[in-house]
Amino acid sequence: MQDFEYRAPKTLNEAIQLMAEKGAKARALAGGTDLLVQLRVKRYIVDRVVDVKHVPEFNELSYSDAKGLVLGAAVPCCRVYENNQISAKYPALYDSAFLIGGIQIQSRGSIGGNLANAAPSADAIPALIALGATANIAGPKGKRSVPAEQFCAGPGKTVLQDGELLVSISIPPPQQHTGSTYIRFIPRNEMDIAVAGVGVSVVLNGSSIKSARIALASVGPTPIYAAEASGWLAGKAPTDDNILQASEAAKKAAKPITDMRGTIEQRIHLVGVLTKRSLQSAITRAKEAK
Ligand SMILES: Cc1cc2nc3c(=O)[nH]c(=O)nc-3n(C[C@H](O)[C@H](O)[C@H](O)COP(=O)(O)OP(=O)(O)OC[C@H]3O[C@@H](n4cnc5c(N)ncnc54)[C@H](O)[C@@H]3O)c2cc1C
Repeated sequence: MQDFEYRAPKTLNEAIQLMAEKGAKARALAGGTDLLVQLRVKRYIVDRVVDVKHVPEFNELSYSDAKGLVLGAAVPCCRVYENNQISAKYPALYDSAFLIGGIQIQSRGSIGGNLANAAPSADAIPALIALGATANIAGPKGKRSVPAEQFCAGPGKTVLQDGELLVSISIPPPQQHTGSTYIRFIPRNEMDIAVAGVGVSVVLNGSSIKSARIALASVGPTPIYAAEASGWLAGKAPTDDNILQASEAAKKAAKPITDMRGTIEQRIHLVGVLTKRSLQSAITRAKEAK
C-alpha cells in the first residue's frame, strides 16, 4: 500500500478545501470498498484521502412527497435497503442496494461511491438513471447538479473536476402508479460483477404507459440511458408485444465488448432478456403501487 495522508473533515467547506489543495492527488473516501483496493493496486497515486463520512451532508437520508429522496453520497447500502420509504417508492434502488456485494460491503459501501466510482458494471447507476436521479456536486467554484446519465464520462471517469465532491443524490418523488426494477445477470448467485444489468422505471396511466426510463449496465464504457427504447414506450399499452419491441430497441443502445465475463453477442442478448423481465416486473409493481 502506498503512503498517503488521511483526513476526516467535519464540514463540507473543509472537505472541499482539503480536496482542492491537492487537486488530482486527492481522492474522496466514502465506504472505501472500491478505493482501498484501487490504492493498493496503484490505480490512483494519491497524497491525500479525504474521508467524507463525518460530514453531515454526506449522511443525509430524507424523503418528502414534495422534494422526493435526498441520499447523502456516503450513506451505506444497508441504510438504503432497510428504509421502508425507499423500498416502497424506489424499488429499483432497493434492488440494487440489496445486491451490491455481501453484507460487509453493504455496511460500508455507498450508492454515492458506486456512482462516483463510475464502473460500467456498477449496479446502482442504472437504477439511479431509471429513477431520474440527479447528482449534487460541490467544489471550490460552487455547487452544480448533473443528471445521473451524464455523470459518468468513461470507465472510472466522471464529470467531477479536481476539488469537486459528489455530496448527495436527489431522486424526484414518484408519480402515481410508478414501478421500478433493477435486474442483473451474473454467472453465480452473488458477489460477482454484472455481465449485463438493466434498470427500468415505468409510470402507468390507466391502460397505457405514460412514460418509461430504461438504463443498461456492463454493455458500454459507461452506464447507458436507452433513450429511444424509453421514449418509444410512452403512450403504448403494456402488452407482451410492446415490451418485446422495447427490449429489441434497448439492445440497439448496447455497445458492449467481449471480455472474460461475456461476449458481445451474449451481452446484447442479455440486454433483451433483462429489459423484458425488468419491464414486466416494473409494470407489475406500478399496478400494485398506491
Ligand atoms: C467484495 C466486493 C464485492 C462488490 N460487489 C459489488 C457489486 O455486486 N456491485 C457493484 O456495483 N459493486 C460492487 N463492489 C464495488 C463497491 O463495493 C461498490 O462500488 C460500492 O458501492 C462503492 O461504494 P464506497 O462507498 O465503498 O466507495 P469508495 O470506495 O469510498 O469510493 C469509490 C470511488 O468513488 C470516489 N468517491 C467516493 N465518494 C465520493 C464522493 N462523495 N465524491 C467524489 N468521489 C467520491 C472515490 O475516490 C473512489 O474513487 C464490490 C466490491 C467488493 C470489494
